Amino acid sequence: MWKPKIARSLAGPDIDSLHLMGSRCGTCGKKYFPARKNCPHCMTEDTIMDVALSDAGKLHSFVVCGIAPPGYEVPHVQGYIDLDDGGPRIFSLLTDYNDEKNLKVGCAMKLTVIRKESGTAGVETVEYRFAPVESKKETA
Ligand SMILES: [Zn+2]
Repeated sequence: MWKPKIARSLAGPDIDSLHLMGSRCGTCGKKYFPARKNCPHCMTEDTIMDVALSDAGKLHSFVVCGIAPPGYEVPHVQGYIDLDDGGPRIFSLLTDYNDEKNLKVGCAMKLTVIRKESGTAGVETVEYRFAPVESKKETA
């Protein structure tokens, strides 16, 4: 049976409805991504629980790189997104922005799950990216 390798930070009932999984401290309420086994804010590990994170957020900052690791497209755009519903701020590669002029600090972003062939022959991975909610297509 065909089964892609799904990033551990994603969970959901099926491949088309995956969401980010992080953790939340039941003592102080801070959320973390990737998930942690303890809370560095209040130094507890007894009340950490897995939690589904928001699929939406605002772009905090980003950088456009002219080079990329093998297997990644150029330009290679990385950013930090402040997730809605209390965060956290997460790192992500960015996609579907059409033109980097569509990326603005503070613009609304949404989770996008992609399928990608990894370097290992025949292995498909499922990973997350963030894309602007509104990205203007270039007009010819
Ligand atoms: Zn805590």
